[in-house]
Amino acid sequence: MALVNKLPSLSSSSPKFKKPSSFKLNQVRSIHYKSNSPSPFTEKHSIERYKRDNWVYNSQLEQPHSFPVEPDTGSIREHEIEAQLPELKRLLEVLREKRESSGGGERGRGPGNVFLVGAGPGDPELLTVKAVRVIRCADLLLYDRLVSNEVLDLVGHDARLLYVGKTAGYHSRTQEEIHELLLSFAEAGANVVRLKGGDPLVFGRGGEEMDFLQQQGIQVQVIPGITAASGIAAELGIPLTHRGVANSVRFLTGHSRKGGTDPLFVAENAADPDSTLVVYMGLSTLPSLALKLIHHGLPPDTPAAAVERGTTPQQRMVFAELKDLPDKITRAQLVSPTRIIVGKVVALSPFWAQSSKEASSLVEVR
Ligand code: SAH
Repeated sequence: MALVNKLPSLSSSSPKFKKPSSFKLNQVRSIHYKSNSPSPFTEKHSIERYKRDNWVYNSQLEQPHSFPVEPDTGSIREHEIEAQLPELKRLLEVLREKRESSGGGERGRGPGNVFLVGAGPGDPELLTVKAVRVIRCADLLLYDRLVSNEVLDLVGHDARLLYVGKTAGYHSRTQEEIHELLLSFAEAGANVVRLKGGDPLVFGRGGEEMDFLQQQGIQVQVIPGITAASGIAAELGIPLTHRGVANSVRFLTGHSRKGGTDPLFVAENAADPDSTLVVYMGLSTLPSLALKLIHHGLPPDTPAAAVERGTTPQQRMVFAELKDLPDKITRAQLVSPTRIIVGKVVALSPFWAQSSKEASSLVEVR
C-alpha cells in the first residue's frame, strides 16, 4: 500500500490545487506548505536547493559562501518528510478526483505514465528533445540534486515539483519513499516524471525504480540523458576512446554502498594503460584508488583530470598526472559533483597543454 495512503486525515490548512491547464515556460511552481520548516521533499523555488547544497548558481556567483549550509542529519530530514506527507496526500486526492470526474476519458482508465528521464550533466541545452517534451507535460516531477535550475525552468506552470535529492548516509529510507510516491501518483493517473542528472541508468538507481514500478504493474518509459562522462569529455575536448590511444572506456563508481563490496577491488582490472577510466562519485576515495591503480601497473604519470560541476557556468577543472591528482584536487578544494577521468586520452585535451604550462593547474573556463 502506498505510503501516502497510510497518513492521517488532512488539516484544514491544505492548499488549493489548481486544475492543470496550459503550460507556460520559464516558470516553476511547487506545492506550497504552511509549515515553516524547510523540506527536502518540496521547495518553493529550486534556488533553495542550491542554498542547502552550497551549489553556487548564477546570481550567487559573487558571494559563493554567503549562505548558511543547513544541518543535514537523518533525524531532522525524517521529521520534515513526515511533515510534508499530508500535503502530498491532498495532492493525490485532487488527482484522483480529477481522474474520476474525467469519466471514461483516457486518463480515467489505466494508470498514468511514469517517465524516467535523464537531465544530462547540467547544461539545459544538452537535454534531448524528447526529455523537453515530457518535462513540459508533467503533472508531477520528482528531481534530484544534480538537476540544474535551467532544466527545472522548463516545467509547466501548473506542474508540481518535488525535491527528492539524496545525501550521503540518507539513502535507504528516501529510496523507498520515492518508490511509493511514484507508485501512488502513477496509480492516480498522473503524468509523473522522475528526473535524474546525467543518464538515469548510469549510477542513478534508475534501474531500481523501474524494477519496483514494473513489479507493481506500472510501465516505465526511459528517456536517456547525456551521462557526465560524455558531457564533460565533450566539454574538455577529450575523446573517451581514440584509435591507437584508448581502445575501451570503463565507468567506475568510487562510492561503495554501505556494507557493499569495496569498489576499489576492481583497480587491478582497471589499471589498463590502453583504456580510459571515468570515475563517478570518486572524490573521497581517489587517494586510495590512485595508489591501487599505480600499484597494479598504471604508470604514475598517466594524464588525469577532475571536473567539478561540468557543463555548468561554475565548471572548474584540475589537470595532473595520476600520482599528483589527489593533492591538486585537495588544493583546489573541488567539491561534489566532480567526475574524474584517467587515461592517455586526457593529454589530447587542449586544456592539458595549457595546464602543464601554468604554475597552477586549476583552470576555470566558461
Ligand atoms: N546518472 C548520472 C551519475 C549520477 S552519480 C550521470 O549519468 O551522469 C553522481 C556522480 O556523477 C557525481 O558524484 C559526479 O561524479 C558525476 N557527475 C554528475 N554530473 C556531474 C557534473 N555536472 N559535473 C561533474 N560530475 C558530475
